[in-house]
Amino acid sequence: MNTTGKIAIRESKMKIKAANLIRWSGLAAMAGGIIFAGIQPVHPPDVLASVTTGAWALIITLKWVMCLFFLIGISGIYARQVEQTGWLGLVGYLMLGLSWWLQTAYVFIDKVTAFASSHRIPVKYLLACVLAHEIGHLLLPANAHRPDGIMRDGWHSALFPPRTPGVLGFPPEQARLLRLRARRQ
Ligand SMILES: [Zn+2]
Repeated sequence: MNTTGKIAIRESKMKIKAANLIRWSGLAAMAGGIIFAGIQPVHPPDVLASVTTGAWALIITLKWVMCLFFLIGISGIYARQVEQTGWLGLVGYLMLGLSWWLQTAYVFIDKVTAFASSHRIPVKYLLACVLAHEIGHLLLPANAHRPDGIMRDGWHSALFPPRTPGVLGFPPEQARLLRLRARRQ
């Protein structure tokens, strides 16, 4: 067999493998959809009191798996149409993936306002600190909690500006890592 023939066979094998992967990604999308539909009747109310229940822990885990399945499914749909959709399709695909990733962090505003009023901290300061902390979790490696600074686990009123400005910054090694990651984007 000549070289052109071998290349043609290799290309057709790769196409079959890609087609199989796309088919499996369709199954992942279906599994994500089934989880989405299945959790609706048992979903606890979106209130602060639900957060510490076992049902909430289960639902959050299932949602995480659902997002993973959806991401695999959408990747398959995108791979199937990559040539037709062009750069606009790429932008849509990346934006969708980014939005799911960003939604892995969330803030309960009623908890923030309750803490702010009971410790007499301006809500704007507390909310800014909480958001910085959660963004830290998204950008830093796992187990990002530190004994000091904005990534500390337990907070109290004396930590907050304007009483003690600068106490809730990122520790130097985490700040360095965040700067490196921001430069890479
Ligand atoms: Zn944390």
